[in-house]
Amino acid sequence: MDKQSMLDWLDGQEKMLSDMARVIWEKPELAMEEVFASGLQRDALAAAGFRLREVPGVPTAFVAEYGSGRPVLGILGEYDALPDLSQQPGPERRALVEHGPGHGCGHNLLGTAGLGAAMALARAIGSGALAGTVRYYGCPAEETISGKTLMAKAHVFDDLDACVTWHPSSYTAPWANSMLANLSVRFRFKGIPAHAASAAELGRSALDAVELMNVGANYLREHVNEKVRMHYVTTNGGSVPNTVPEDAEVWYMVRAPKFEMVRDTFRRLKNIARGAAQMTETQLAEVRLESAAWEVLTNEVICGVLDRNMKAMGGPGFEEEDRRFAAEMVKTFGPGEQLKGFAPFFVPAELEGQGLFEGTADPVGRGVCIMASSDVGDVSWIAPLCQFGVSVWPLGIPTHTWRTTASTSSHLAMRGMLFAAKTMAATLYDLSADPALLGEAQAEFARATEKQKYVCALDEEI
Ligand SMILES: [Zn+2]
Repeated sequence: MDKQSMLDWLDGQEKMLSDMARVIWEKPELAMEEVFASGLQRDALAAAGFRLREVPGVPTAFVAEYGSGRPVLGILGEYDALPDLSQQPGPERRALVEHGPGHGCGHNLLGTAGLGAAMALARAIGSGALAGTVRYYGCPAEETISGKTLMAKAHVFDDLDACVTWHPSSYTAPWANSMLANLSVRFRFKGIPAHAASAAELGRSALDAVELMNVGANYLREHVNEKVRMHYVTTNGGSVPNTVPEDAEVWYMVRAPKFEMVRDTFRRLKNIARGAAQMTETQLAEVRLESAAWEVLTNEVICGVLDRNMKAMGGPGFEEEDRRFAAEMVKTFGPGEQLKGFAPFFVPAELEGQGLFEGTADPVGRGVCIMASSDVGDVSWIAPLCQFGVSVWPLGIPTHTWRTTASTSSHLAMRGMLFAAKTMAATLYDLSADPALLGEAQAEFARATEKQKYVCALDEEI
């Protein structure tokens, strides 16, 4: 099976893939709860002849593999939804389930495209046209930036030769940009309860420790790299004001362009937490690391292969109904609102007013670290990897909003998803068929990681 026949086969799977993406959209599941979506994908891959493996300790993660030997080529898929983004399809804001979850980041499409690409490559391997192994990684909990980190801790990516993934977007282009490293951690303080009026001197407030920790952290901001971001919420501040709070907890996220900056900021935050406990004569009862992901390291060689394939195919091939849908959605923007959604995905300002980006653009974001994080970062330090975006919703729609959920079950979304599947299949086909090209990608990766080897932050004594 040559490359074109493989892509033609994938074109023939449009209905199967669209049905799967829509069913996952209709049953949105939050991070780590993706029992239905992961089960559906496991069953489909098993039926296509893939061998399935569980990932210890991560029940909704799995690895599906076809073929044998090298090269081992990976595709990352996701399927988690977001809270409070339930929404009917179309241009009017209305929840399907009040405060229910919804696919406001398009992960129903993300994983399904990966599954399609993996099945196509398996057919090429099965026909004898390609050597090696293709793996589809069912990755849960991207929205809490934790699934792939837990999978990295289980060493499931260690023997990959190259890897690709994509993300739904309003703009079709390879992503040469990096993304922020991230760490999520909870600090829990234990105090001494007492009547807040008659015996206040006997009490020691855990909430005081949280508040003083936050004061310390806010003073720390001046003395960290200007790119470091710290955000927190108090998740437990006691129950009633007339009892000195015995328990209190604050949840922090730290982000920076390099994981080493995140690591150092975390070390200093722990000192602040200890200081807050000492000041208030409470105990720092727990420091619980929820997740930690490295910044994204982009492989330029793979970026180039993605770019060539995307340009050769031209774009998702949208139809008239897609253009109508996009025009209706864009009408829902207030003045200037569409343009605000352009920056995160590098959409050029001159496209303001248009409904849909139909072509495929040059790689975006080279040398830029965008102000968002993804657990794809961890994988990118284990194997050569590049991501790309594909238009699956109208121009300027930001992720994590009702408009995204409203778009990610549309025909337009399905066309974009199929293009993403074909891009991944074509790119990995090229890397497998041309050992010199794959060697270039690996040599670049070896140079980029020479001085800094990946260590899963969950295994690290930070
Ligand atoms: Zn996402």
